[in-house]
Amino acid sequence: MRKRELQLKTLAEKAQGCSRCPLHRGRTHVVYGEGPAAASAMLVGEAPGRAEDEGGRPFIGRTGSFFRKMLASCDLPSEELYITSAVKCRPPGNRDPKKDELTACRSAWLEKQIELIDPPLILVLGKCAAVQMLDWRGSLKELRGGFHSRQGRWLQVTYHPTAAMRFPKIREDFRKDLQRFGRNLAHSQNSNR
Ligand code: SF4
Repeated sequence: MRKRELQLKTLAEKAQGCSRCPLHRGRTHVVYGEGPAAASAMLVGEAPGRAEDEGGRPFIGRTGSFFRKMLASCDLPSEELYITSAVKCRPPGNRDPKKDELTACRSAWLEKQIELIDPPLILVLGKCAAVQMLDWRGSLKELRGGFHSRQGRWLQVTYHPTAAMRFPKIREDFRKDLQRFGRNLAHSQNSNR
């Protein structure tokens, strides 16, 4: 096993015992994330839902299935991406993660994941993930569309897949965002060859 893969696996195992924020109390599994350790793009969602909490994997419920199909239809096969979330434990009743929970999980796990995987591009899914990744306090609309620089990487912000699943208008914009992300990923892969 390569060094980076091993380091990521070790971190994921360590995270299973994490109690750095109150979300540990109600969880079944810590949903650390999944994907290749050398993925050229990372996707950061909000938080595990019920299905993810039970199954221990990100985006495997109804929304997850919708999202993975949309990714595939935009030439972004989910198995080639590293998928994780802003917090790794399910908030009670699927409420939004609180600021202190976001901060705790970011410093304990998310920053280390990003550092190890070292992806040039990150797709940020929804408002909580935008708060987590860009310390953003405005509306999602203001961030959506453009690319944002963060510590030498490019971040693209889009809607959370749940909103895209529920609302047809958002779904179309979401598809355009995924296609745009796919084009930028292909460009970044070609320029690294
Ligand atoms: S959400 Fe993150 S910081 Fe909080 S207990 Fe779970 S793994 Fe730890």
